[in-house]
Amino acid sequence: MNKKIPTRIYLSEDELPKFWYNLRADMKNKPDPMLHPGTLKPVTAADLAPVFCNGVIEQELDDTTRLIPIPDAIQDFYRAYRPSPLIRAYYLEKILGTPAEIYYKFEGTNTSGSHKLNSAGPQAYYAKEEGLTSLTTETGAGQWGTAMAMACGFYDLKLIVYMVKISSEQKPYRKALMETYGANLIPSPSNTTESGRKILEGDPDTGGSLGCAISEAIETAVKTDKCRYVLGSVLNHVLLHQTIIGQETKTAMDKYGIKPDIIIGCAGGGSNLGGLMAPFMAEKLAGKSNARFIAVEPASCPSFTRGRYAYDFGDTAKTTPLIRMQTLGSAFVPSANHAGGLRYHGMNTTLSKLYHDGLLEARAEKQTDVFDAAIQFMKVEGILPAPESSHAIKAAIDEALVCKKTGEKKVILFGLSGTGFFDMTAYASYNNKTMSDYIPNDADLERGFASIPGIPQNG
Ligand SMILES: *Cc1c(COP(=O)(O)O)cnc(C)c1O
Repeated sequence: MNKKIPTRIYLSEDELPKFWYNLRADMKNKPDPMLHPGTLKPVTAADLAPVFCNGVIEQELDDTTRLIPIPDAIQDFYRAYRPSPLIRAYYLEKILGTPAEIYYKFEGTNTSGSHKLNSAGPQAYYAKEEGLTSLTTETGAGQWGTAMAMACGFYDLKLIVYMVKISSEQKPYRKALMETYGANLIPSPSNTTESGRKILEGDPDTGGSLGCAISEAIETAVKTDKCRYVLGSVLNHVLLHQTIIGQETKTAMDKYGIKPDIIIGCAGGGSNLGGLMAPFMAEKLAGKSNARFIAVEPASCPSFTRGRYAYDFGDTAKTTPLIRMQTLGSAFVPSANHAGGLRYHGMNTTLSKLYHDGLLEARAEKQTDVFDAAIQFMKVEGILPAPESSHAIKAAIDEALVCKKTGEKKVILFGLSGTGFFDMTAYASYNNKTMSDYIPNDADLERGFASIPGIPQNG
């Protein structure tokens, strides 16, 4: 096809997805089911009902329905800020001198600043439909908390956000933004829950962790009337909602006959990458494409590249069902780094399975290298990337430079999951060279692995 490809490829409203695409339905080898930690039997909807909304439970447990209709109200919600831009990185290609074509899908244009709103909207919608009055959640870097605050503001639901304490101190503007949308912010660990009090007893000065904030949020949801818990990553229903990213991308690319050879995303719990790659992975599973898929994680929290594929808990207090995933152990606490959204010990089960089966590659990148890539990108493309998203930029640049050596004209697609406007402390520490590159040693990892329960598994 000879049509000149525009810098931004637009979609009209009627080209927007009307279904979420459930990748698990097309996987011959399904991810292993979540297990009840007491019985070690696959969890049922009834097991999850005290914690989650029914709408998302149904989606979480469904690994056979390919296309799940997006409710009209959610299509309307999406139209307020979607489609997100798909951009041809002409300027980046030029300074790299690569024959490769580079495209990125930018999810940072909504006020919450990332793709998280794509799942926050549906989760608040289901809660409202089911007659609930409040929700609880946790947030690390603050993106998910902000997205939920926006969605709960929209659907008039109360929201309690347990924000990892160190992060609530480092990011006062995130906190203010969530509060402005009406959320109730509690630094975690707190004395409002048993799990919080227990952690504080052991370590009164702790800066907290995501695993700990999750324990607090779940405990409060279970103990409060007409209240449930919502999670912004890791689980399959979140990945499902994020498939609008990949579907918009594919529709836009199909208009110009563009077929990506390499699809790249940063991975914290796996939702933006999973959502971006889903429709492309479908073609690979069907034998219609040879594309490569690359997950990029921080070297400080390497759940794919140095983790184990095992049944593990999703939280520190070990209250969640057991999830078979790439994990560093629920007791693993990554060193402080600026990609707050990538500091979770585990990974989505579907992505973990694809990695285990050799369909998904992974690499880990050092913080300063990631920021080098971010600066190179923002100077020519103009967009200030989130530190998380910059992991994907780093890998995209590296792949483009491989093409420069080999002369191959590959098509590279990456997910630019968010904006870095709330991460200026990170950029400041890069600028004044105080940024560190702590990488856990084997002994650090062993301490995390020791917390993984010894559940036997097949294959
Ligand atoms: C939360 C977040 C991530 C990581 O979460 P995933 O579920 O792996 O997508 C990545 N980028 C940004 C900007 C985020 O806010």
